[in-house]
Amino acid sequence: MERIVAKFGGSSVADAAQFRKVAAIMQADPRRRILVVSAPGKRRPDEAKITDLLYLCHDMAAMATSIDEPFGLITERFTGIAAELGIDSALPGLLQTFRRELEAGCSREFAVSRGEFFCARLMAEFLGAEFVDPANHILLRGNGLVDPVSYERLRSRLADESRMYVMAGFYGRNRQGEITTFSRGGSDISGAIAARAAGAILYENWTDTSGFLIADPRIVDNPRAIEEISFREVREMAYMGASVFHDEAILPVREAGIPVAIRNTNRPEDPGTRIVPKLGAKALTSTEIAGISGLNNATMITVEKSLMNKEIGFAHRLLGIFLQHNISFEHCPSSIDSMSVIVLDNKLRGLDQTVLDDIGRQLEPDHLSIEKNLALIAVVGEGMVRTVGIAAKIFTALAAAHINVRVINQGASEINIIVGVAAGDYEEAVRAIYRAFVPEESPTA
Ligand code: ASP
Repeated sequence: MERIVAKFGGSSVADAAQFRKVAAIMQADPRRRILVVSAPGKRRPDEAKITDLLYLCHDMAAMATSIDEPFGLITERFTGIAAELGIDSALPGLLQTFRRELEAGCSREFAVSRGEFFCARLMAEFLGAEFVDPANHILLRGNGLVDPVSYERLRSRLADESRMYVMAGFYGRNRQGEITTFSRGGSDISGAIAARAAGAILYENWTDTSGFLIADPRIVDNPRAIEEISFREVREMAYMGASVFHDEAILPVREAGIPVAIRNTNRPEDPGTRIVPKLGAKALTSTEIAGISGLNNATMITVEKSLMNKEIGFAHRLLGIFLQHNISFEHCPSSIDSMSVIVLDNKLRGLDQTVLDDIGRQLEPDHLSIEKNLALIAVVGEGMVRTVGIAAKIFTALAAAHINVRVINQGASEINIIVGVAAGDYEEAVRAIYRAFVPEESPTA
């Protein structure tokens, strides 16, 4: 039987009304047999996500502070959903045990995984489905990547095609047998693992927007939705800040050639975005690019030294300094006598001065500079490789908006052009590029 794995994000399971929408979506297509859920998200913009409350509980318990308040909010949310749906759940007992575990000093990752655990149990009970605990099937390696044995284990757990399963997202177990979580938003990865393990024909990712948008709606007014996008483009867009889909979730489904659909739980009639291994011939003809995403928190360190080009191993030693401090870098543009390293601020972790001191001592540059508050904008699109004039369009638009371009980077694969601008110019730059590729009069999604 053909099966679809459907993953529902935090806003899709935020309350009982959302649970009912999930049930209706599951019933609308009998091929939807496997569900993966996040922990309940916000019901209102000013409310905390369950995952954040769990982090808070753990940290407060570790400081021997009373967790009454955040734990009360968590309990209220879960018991409220159960009561409204009329589920006679074992939840109160499980919550009590969990509180004792928190106060006895359980690990942070175990604590935070309970958001998905309780949510999946409730959803399974509501749908009359089988609950699947990923701790028994998903094995994570030290680097946070999934161990391939997980696919086989999960395949046997999900083997009965006549049944419906609900699996908790976001966590698995490590080799030491401890609960381990993915990075934030990681239930997308759990869903992708389940889709691959079950040999699904489609992985649906249900969220609160109708798919990928060409640009961030907080910056561009009512941006157009992307109908179809390739795996490579999505990974670029997601890594460069488009938050609809976790960048690491692409890998399990890409390897298995399973298409992904990003859909809106609140507007199931919208087609959403399809993520496919290869774009069809018609793709990208109207906008030439797939999308624009960006990160507004980068720093660029530039090293200048005459005859750098003759010093074999210069780049190796420069990047070695970043390695020593366990800092990963994004880009490394260079010219004959200069080389820059662009790093995201959360990866630099305030080590600017240490890195500068090490570079000064070990490489003896003629000039060393640091530029903070840099924004990186990625214009992404596989079609670029076949289209003349994309770069010209981007830079003409930026010039017309009087935006100074600090740095340009284009990978040899030509799937994106990265433009660095001052953080203060970031939003205007995104709007200018958007307008250059999406004409004003075009229909909006
Ligand atoms: N609940 C986790 C988070 O808030 C994981 C997820 O929602 O995918 O990051």
